[in-house]
Amino acid sequence: MAPRTAEIAGAGLAGLTLATRLAQLGWHVRLHERNDELRMYGAGIWLWESGLQTLETLGAFDQATKRARTIREWRIADHGGKPLMSRYTGPGDRMLLPPRADLYAALIARAEYYGVDIVTSSLVTGMSADGRIEYANGKTSRADLVVAADGAYSRLRESIFCTAWMDFGSQAGIRMLIDRSDDQPDDTIIEYWHGARRLLFNPCTDEQDYIFLSAPVGDDRAGRLPVDRDLWAADFPAVADLVHRFAEDGRWDRLVNVRCRRWSAGHAAVLGDAAHAMPPNLGQAANTAFINAMALAALAEQNKDITTVLPEWERRQKAITDHVQRWSYYYGFVLGHCPSPLLGTRARTLGRLSQTQWFDRNLNRGARHQPMGSLAVH
Ligand SMILES: Cc1cc2nc3c(=O)[nH]c(=O)nc-3n(C[C@H](O)[C@H](O)[C@H](O)COP(=O)(O)OP(=O)(O)OC[C@H]3O[C@@H](n4cnc5c(N)ncnc54)[C@H](O)[C@@H]3O)c2cc1C
Repeated sequence: MAPRTAEIAGAGLAGLTLATRLAQLGWHVRLHERNDELRMYGAGIWLWESGLQTLETLGAFDQATKRARTIREWRIADHGGKPLMSRYTGPGDRMLLPPRADLYAALIARAEYYGVDIVTSSLVTGMSADGRIEYANGKTSRADLVVAADGAYSRLRESIFCTAWMDFGSQAGIRMLIDRSDDQPDDTIIEYWHGARRLLFNPCTDEQDYIFLSAPVGDDRAGRLPVDRDLWAADFPAVADLVHRFAEDGRWDRLVNVRCRRWSAGHAAVLGDAAHAMPPNLGQAANTAFINAMALAALAEQNKDITTVLPEWERRQKAITDHVQRWSYYYGFVLGHCPSPLLGTRARTLGRLSQTQWFDRNLNRGARHQPMGSLAVH
């Protein structure tokens, strides 16, 4: 029997993961990237158990994590360094923090290994429920499955009438890699909160640490590049030395939320940030794209009719995705909308809540989710 065919728009983390998993299962897959080369901005990325199991299944784990730090604790502290919350990791509940470039290179290598046809400079302009896909050069093609994995600002989800709302978000963030210094921990992420501003220290490799700064959109001084070191050092005195080592350049992003009324129509689906972008408060958006890609491929293995697979896929995966997105939103709300007189109450409440099983279960539900079709054995 001829292999089933998939055409995927967008060679980001989501598109590459789905393309590789389908090809691994015997599909003929073409992956379109509008840029003339595959590139990824190179700061770090949090990979949880769900994402790590996906990488193990694809055979991408070793390359993706070869330089990554193993994280034992994610700690939230106040601006002076006093701990407010700790989340520990362990076997079966792992977290690793590689450079994004390593993850991306590993996924590309596996996609190529399984024969995914990656086409650069290929701008997809539309797709439809009957499995038709249109390109900027005027050509069209057809596949059993067509997927829009074209990121948070997706144009393609519109062509299958999916967008429910897009919230441009009230927070923005700056990412950078800086040279490592031995006076910082190598297995603990520390997230410092000061009002609505946040500074995250992430151990990444032997050579570099990953810094993420966030502040409300409109906080012009905090959003400035090169980073205003005096401002951040004054706000976070506990890590003033670290701030003075910040890089000159970095990348500024608005932290957007996307919700879709539905993720599919007929033979067409949306995946990744195109379907459910969320602010990186829990570091789980890409991990969620991974589990959704895995589930889509697993369900398509069980049933050859993609038009019945896709509604089933949505039904199974939307609940976990909505949950992660909701908790990411709550987190951003608590961080960004707390009036100054209530900051002490916020700290005490978070400290107490974070020790409950209810909080642990909900905060980490996505991170601990076992992807469908995972080959990882633990
Ligand atoms: C500051 C920050 C930190 C984050 N940290 C984490 C983290 O630690 N852990 C985590 O799990 N997630 C994290 N995320 C989220 C994660 O980065 C995203 O969820 C993930 O990169 C989305 O991948 P994607 O493939 O869906 O979209 P994208 O990465 O946006 O990729 C879309 C691709 O599609 C291409 N494209 C667009 N339109 C077309 C078209 N019409 N035709 C062809 N190609 C097209 C684009 O060029 C791009 O290559 C973070 C996000 C931010 C902003």
